[in-house]
Amino acid sequence: MGAHQRWPATLTEEELHRVAKHFSAPAYEQFSGDNADYLAKREAEKGFNNWAMRNIQAHKVPGYAAVTLSLKPTAVAPGDATDKQMEAAAELGRPFQLGELRVTHQQNLVLADVRQSDLYTLWQVCKEQGFATPEYRPADRRYLLPLAATSCSLANAKSIPIAEAIQRTFDDLDYLHDIGDLDLNISGCMNACGHHHVGHIGILGVDKKGAEFYQVSLGGDSGRNAAIGQILGPSFAADEMPAVVSKVVDVYLESRTPEEQFIDTFKRIGMAPFKERVYAATH
Ligand code: SF4
Repeated sequence: MGAHQRWPATLTEEELHRVAKHFSAPAYEQFSGDNADYLAKREAEKGFNNWAMRNIQAHKVPGYAAVTLSLKPTAVAPGDATDKQMEAAAELGRPFQLGELRVTHQQNLVLADVRQSDLYTLWQVCKEQGFATPEYRPADRRYLLPLAATSCSLANAKSIPIAEAIQRTFDDLDYLHDIGDLDLNISGCMNACGHHHVGHIGILGVDKKGAEFYQVSLGGDSGRNAAIGQILGPSFAADEMPAVVSKVVDVYLESRTPEEQFIDTFKRIGMAPFKERVYAATH
């Protein structure tokens, strides 16, 4: 902390306290700990437990949880919601929490203060409304832009069909192996709305003499050890992309140690093995 404090933009404890005084905590109910019925239902019902593992985050207040309403079903542009879903989401803000609904940069909605005792009922509603896609499986962790040449006039290359094709590949791979944490971010042009620079795997749509191509980067990180990804090499045509991503994931799966996530393996073994595998087969 010491070295950073000299920067003018550093947020000090004093400043945090000053700003915090302008906010008051929501009217939480007092619970002594986790809700026993909620824990029992997780034990008893695998589907509920899976949803809880992927879409619920711990809360600092006992007896509460934060819930992600996923907007990333396969075959729908990530982040898109229908008018009915928006109305349903707005309604959920009332019975299930304290009247607040947040939009995240990962293109989802979050109910930040849900009582654990309400989670089972909320899960049923999420399934009915199409909000229950597991959010933290690898292919869904990407926050790729929900735009393509058809919906953003700046796009060099379509991202939605590519995202869909890759997601199907990931669905298969994740079924066979537990891939772990992997951020896959896609941007349709250099404006980088999909944050491709900081994806563990980043994909950027580029235009080559009027044709659509995709440039792949590896090793980006938006976490505590933030890093910009390194470009893998020459770009690829659309139909090559699912295989390219599979090969990158294969190298990781073959090289990882039991405790490593994708980004750890990449940092340890570097770009060369990925480059070798991908270009040996495609160029
Ligand atoms: S990255 Fe480019 S194509 Fe994608 S939304 Fe942003 S401006 Fe549009």
